[in-house]
Amino acid sequence: MWIDSHCHLDFFPDTIIKKTIKSARNSQISNIVIPSVSPENLTRVREIAVQDDTLSYALGFHPMYIDKINNSDLVKLSDSVRNNSPVAIGEIGIDLFIKKNNIDKQEHFLVSQLKLAIDYDLPVILHTRNAIDVVLKHLRRHKVRGGIAHAFNGSNQQAYQFIDLGFKLGFGGAMTYPRAKHIQKLAKELPIESIVLETDSPDMPPFWLEKDQKNQPKELEKIGIFLAQLRGLDPYKMAKTISKNTLEILPKIDKLYT
Ligand SMILES: [Zn+2]
Repeated sequence: MWIDSHCHLDFFPDTIIKKTIKSARNSQISNIVIPSVSPENLTRVREIAVQDDTLSYALGFHPMYIDKINNSDLVKLSDSVRNNSPVAIGEIGIDLFIKKNNIDKQEHFLVSQLKLAIDYDLPVILHTRNAIDVVLKHLRRHKVRGGIAHAFNGSNQQAYQFIDLGFKLGFGGAMTYPRAKHIQKLAKELPIESIVLETDSPDMPPFWLEKDQKNQPKELEKIGIFLAQLRGLDPYKMAKTISKNTLEILPKIDKLYT
C-alpha cells in the first residue's frame, strides 16, 4: 500500500471526490494527506477528510496565498488546530518562483506557523520553491519536530540539511519526466529512509498523463513503481518502507488501513 503525503483533494469538484478516493483505494493507496492553503479552505479540507478513514488533513497557509491573509487569520488557524486533529501544520513555506516582492510577509507568516507547530508539537509540510535556503534558515532558528520538504528539488547538500533537521523529502510526478535527471538522481541516491511520495494532485501531472487527464491520487502507485525501478528495488517491499517513513514523520495519520 502507498501513502499520498500531499494531495489538494479539496481542489477537485465535489462531484468527483468520492470517485477519486475510490479509485485511489483500488490502486493500493491506503492514505491521502490533504494540506490546506488559505483561511477559506481550513474547514473544507477537514470536512472532506472526515468523510473517509483513508484521509487526513493538515492546516496552514501556503506562501502563494499570503497576500490575502493577516494576523487575525493566524488566530483562526490556531483555533482550528486546537479544536481539531490535523496531522501537520501545512502547507507552509516560502515561494520565490512567482513572487519576490512580499518576501518579508512570507517570512513573517512562515515563522508564525513554525511557532504554532512547536506549540502543538506537530510536524510541518513545507513548500520551498526557489527558497530552500531561506526556509532552512528559519528551521534552524525554530526547531519544529520535523516534517516533509514537499516537491523537493534542491541540491544534495540541501537534502542532507533537511534530513539533519529531522525532515523527509517528498518526491512525485516531477521525477517521472525523462529530462528530470537531477530529481531522478536525488530520488535514486538519497537514503530510502528519507523519502516520502506524493502526487500534489491536481497539480504536477506525471509524465504519462495526457493533457486532458487530471492528476489524481491513484497515480501514486505508478509513481512509486517508477521510483522502485529507478532504485532497482522491489516496488511492494519499497512501498512498505516508504509508508513506514511517512507514518514516522506524520504519526497522527490513521494507521488503520496501512
Ligand atoms: Zn501543495
